[in-house]
Amino acid sequence: MIPEDIVERAYNGTTTREDALELLEVKPFELYALADDLRKEAVGDNVTYVVNRNINFTDRCIGTCGFCAFKDKKGYLLSQDQIREKIDEAVASGATELCIQGGLMEDVKLDLYLDILRAVKEDHPHIHTHCFSPMEVYHAATSSDLTIEETLAELKKNGLNTMPGTAAEILVDRVREIICPEKITRQQWIDIVTSAHKAGISTTATMMYGHVETWEERIDHILTIRDIQKKTGGFTEFVPLPFMPYNNTIGDQMLKEGKFMTTGTEDLKVYSLARILLNTHVKNIQVSWVKLGKKLAQVALLCGGNDLGGTLMEESISRSAGASNGEVISVEELEWIIRGAERTPAQRDTLYRSISE
Ligand code: SF4
Repeated sequence: MIPEDIVERAYNGTTTREDALELLEVKPFELYALADDLRKEAVGDNVTYVVNRNINFTDRCIGTCGFCAFKDKKGYLLSQDQIREKIDEAVASGATELCIQGGLMEDVKLDLYLDILRAVKEDHPHIHTHCFSPMEVYHAATSSDLTIEETLAELKKNGLNTMPGTAAEILVDRVREIICPEKITRQQWIDIVTSAHKAGISTTATMMYGHVETWEERIDHILTIRDIQKKTGGFTEFVPLPFMPYNNTIGDQMLKEGKFMTTGTEDLKVYSLARILLNTHVKNIQVSWVKLGKKLAQVALLCGGNDLGGTLMEESISRSAGASNGEVISVEELEWIIRGAERTPAQRDTLYRSISE
């Protein structure tokens, strides 16, 4: 049984680190049920999704993240024409959002990022641009001798609507020192995201878990997101992403030590804890069908999740690291999965506004 005071704090949005650790000791189905109850109270029975397209414009990267299986695999850089072609295809298939990210190219300045935004907005001013991680914003700023604020202002002026809250990994410097020592620090990630929110650019928040971090560090990560949200209100959703341990050095080391990827019950505990720790602060917990697979993603909708993410159209980052759940999912299949969980499918835009027929 979950103690009453812990349930009470979960409902009023004040779950503590100690509560979260105690919740890991209760029977998993009790934990999942609490998260499901909170989800129902917070957002009801709709499960949302977005029709979008992922575009990774280059895999060339000077980064050294040990968990990355994407960088320099093919060494490609999409031309402006190729990007425009992908954008046109996305719009023709009904996408409302373009999610555009890429590697960190040497000698590339802010102009490259602005050119991409202009390529989208010139032809399709109404499509939502969800582009560039905090790491890319940092890269664009430093290579162009601009401040983060100046960079964000330029991006916004040229058509940036929202940003993916990727590059967060685990927001604990001990972990970052091991898995991505050259990436922005915890504090830099917080500062960039906070500046974006202040500039009117909402972001998502992600967490890549299941490598070298502890449960305490996962909880601290989620509490960091909660603290930022209390100050800015700029997160649209939280997206837990299990680490894929294939074709990368961190994963190789794990597999050598006899450690494999996260298990299903562990994933569901992370989703449940995310809902509980973020309750009343971040409304939407997004389930990644790419990482979890379609069947476990459906079950995660019963453990705190209320959003199934996007149709994507192409996905190469998780696939490079061993995900085998596909690159695209149709609206029909997403809705099938949602109805199978006895919930109501609802198409949304990037900012979680409903899109009716
Ligand atoms: S995760 Fe991103 S920044 Fe890091 S090496 Fe891979 S592509 Fe580069």
